[in-house]
Amino acid sequence: MNEFALIANYFQRPCLDAAVLLGVGDDCAVLRVPPDEVLLVSTDLLVAGRHFPESTPPFDIGYKTLAVNLSDLAAMGARPLGVTLGLALPNVDPAWLEAFAAGFYTLAAEHAVCLVGGDTVKSPQLTLAVTVMGRANPAQILRRSSAQPGDWIAVTGTVGDAGLGLCSILEPNSAPASLSPADLTFLHSRLNRPSPRLAEGHRLAEFAHAAIDISDGLLQDLQHILTASGVGAVIEQAKIPLSPAAQAWFQADPTAQVLPLSAGDDYELLFTLKPQDWPQVDFPATVIGRIEAEPGLRVLDAEGQPLSLLPHGFDHFPPNRTSQP
Ligand code: ADP
Ligand code: MG
Repeated sequence: MNEFALIANYFQRPCLDAAVLLGVGDDCAVLRVPPDEVLLVSTDLLVAGRHFPESTPPFDIGYKTLAVNLSDLAAMGARPLGVTLGLALPNVDPAWLEAFAAGFYTLAAEHAVCLVGGDTVKSPQLTLAVTVMGRANPAQILRRSSAQPGDWIAVTGTVGDAGLGLCSILEPNSAPASLSPADLTFLHSRLNRPSPRLAEGHRLAEFAHAAIDISDGLLQDLQHILTASGVGAVIEQAKIPLSPAAQAWFQADPTAQVLPLSAGDDYELLFTLKPQDWPQVDFPATVIGRIEAEPGLRVLDAEGQPLSLLPHGFDHFPPNRTSQP
């Protein structure tokens, strides 16, 4: 199968979106942005062995590649217009491509977003680059820089599931023996098929102040909001929403309880809003703290005592690493 047959076989499906004047097949895609809206663009790169274990099923790789990109649009309150896919493949494996495309298109169909172009190359390391384009009312964009003292800090869904799922894959003995197979399956699905919170982000754009998606860890991603907004925050660890599976894990292994503070990959939205706007939140979300004028990030444990050693989130280029990336 040559490059062009590969594209035609797996990545050239009909697009029914009226905003897409031209999709896969020409030198550029052509998209229409509604006159009162602006274009938002974001790229995320996923490298096998770095962003997902090499053993990840290809369906899940396809699903997650798109999910993490749509999540960035969600975090801005935007709606998807189209996506492009850069694919660097070590070899052409029809079964792998079939499953990868099925995962990618499953999520694309869920959010009615079209794959409008891309590039396909051969390379020793499986690498995926998606660029998402979205649209939004420019007056309603959720920026990291808009948090204000007095805001509540809230998070959608539950936190820590993907991190626990990853732990259980990388170190199979780390999962407590008491954890049910259904709980383990749930944690894996949270890692491999994250739900981009597009509907929630679009709703939040109407009233929330700042937002970010949790990709690198709750505290680390919150810190981005604090830095950009020039504010501080207090987080109450006991308020962090946990799934039944995570609760079961922590019951058997309380030492793992700090993990939801630092683990990434949940792709939930972390947002700030005026307390009086909380009744407008009409989807699962939990208040976990508040924004303060005093700089710094303070985390209180269940007894209200500050945690002295805050766990770090994920960083591709940590400062003490001397080796080249
Ligand atoms: P060009 O040489 O102009 O870059 P290509 O031959 O690379 O064009 O691609 C042909 C068409 O297929 C283009 O419309 C491109 O956007 C699309 N395409 C290539 N790879 C992919 C892919 N992985 N997913 C979706 N579309 C793709
Ligand atoms: Mg090309």
